[in-house]
Amino acid sequence: MNHSAFKFGTRAIHAGQEPDPTTGAVMTPIYQTSTYWQESPGKHKGYAYARGKNPTRSALEKCLASLENAKYGLCFSSGMGATDAVVKMLKPGDEVITGNDLYGGTYRMFTKVFANYGIKFHFIDLSNPENIIPYVNEHTKLLWVETPTNPTMQIVDIASCAAIAKTHHITFAVDNTFASPYLQNPLDLGADIVMHSVTKYLGGHSDVVMGALLTSDDKLYEQLSFIHNSCGATPGPMDSFLVLRGLKTLHLRMKAHCENGKQVALFLKDHPAIEKVYWPGFIEHPNHEIAKNQMRDFGGMISIVLKNADLHKTFDIASGFEVFTLAESLGGVESLINHPATMTHASIPKEEREKAGVVDNLLRLSVGVEDIEDILQDLKRVLG
Ligand SMILES: *Cc1c(COP(=O)(O)O)cnc(C)c1O
Repeated sequence: MNHSAFKFGTRAIHAGQEPDPTTGAVMTPIYQTSTYWQESPGKHKGYAYARGKNPTRSALEKCLASLENAKYGLCFSSGMGATDAVVKMLKPGDEVITGNDLYGGTYRMFTKVFANYGIKFHFIDLSNPENIIPYVNEHTKLLWVETPTNPTMQIVDIASCAAIAKTHHITFAVDNTFASPYLQNPLDLGADIVMHSVTKYLGGHSDVVMGALLTSDDKLYEQLSFIHNSCGATPGPMDSFLVLRGLKTLHLRMKAHCENGKQVALFLKDHPAIEKVYWPGFIEHPNHEIAKNQMRDFGGMISIVLKNADLHKTFDIASGFEVFTLAESLGGVESLINHPATMTHASIPKEEREKAGVVDNLLRLSVGVEDIEDILQDLKRVLG
């Protein structure tokens, strides 16, 4: 089957997956094996040892590559494992330009792990890509962008970043976790690498931790694939199976996340208990036009700043919901609420955090796919 000819939902269900050649099983089996039989040394069926390759994982890698319009996919044991592999392509003395509004774990890895290896990171405001240019020098090797950003939902213009990266021969990677491939395909806009925390929308059921890298560049794939196998942050077959299953409803779930997200954003917009709502679907959002151009819809992630709320009141509100579960993570079928300052972004120093708008009275909502009436009722009950 030539999967590339099909539309998104069909690829989410079928890409990379054929009936099992041995039994005809329609669903890709969980190949729970660490090693494979060799007829004579080196003579095998393409699989030698499961760190390098596993059929369940191979099916998933092909499916994810198809959804991002990429030639190649690599799955990792977490999103951070995937990011780690990208930075490991660099050498001491190399420099990275990235946003000042990053996922907390990415910021922590850059500053607390890789800074010790002699790699220099510039954290800058990417809402205008021209801001990149003064930081470019002959050592600049990687541009790392997240859009929409976490948690303040800033939008970075991917095509403009790609043009700058190309001019200066910088590898350009986009963390596409918040949008998912349903809403945005960075490779089509000129990015070299897409990274996903598969844990979030792709898995979609809050039961797997996984990461992925997608690229169409032969040389980058070769390097990343070497690091993947050499450093070994590879996921197991059971987790690969769970994500293959989750992906089959990605298009249906994303549609529902977007619909519910829009209703929640509109409900919160002029609410008297709310000072500010961050959601790229508002015309007033500073980069709304760019969001409209590079995304197909606006997603289910929304952040709010509570009016006149100290930490105590913010905690009370965050803990008072029934439909929204207070928890880290996002992108699952269930609605979650998170307090970034003490949870997902606690590893970023207070001063840095507040510069990026992550104040103590900010809460982040991952709007799930429950019935919208129940979601809105839950918000009304807690916020008044
Ligand atoms: C969760 C997340 C990550 C890290 O992924 P893990 O699967 O938790 O390792 C990276 N970037 C973003 C935007 C995330 O939300």
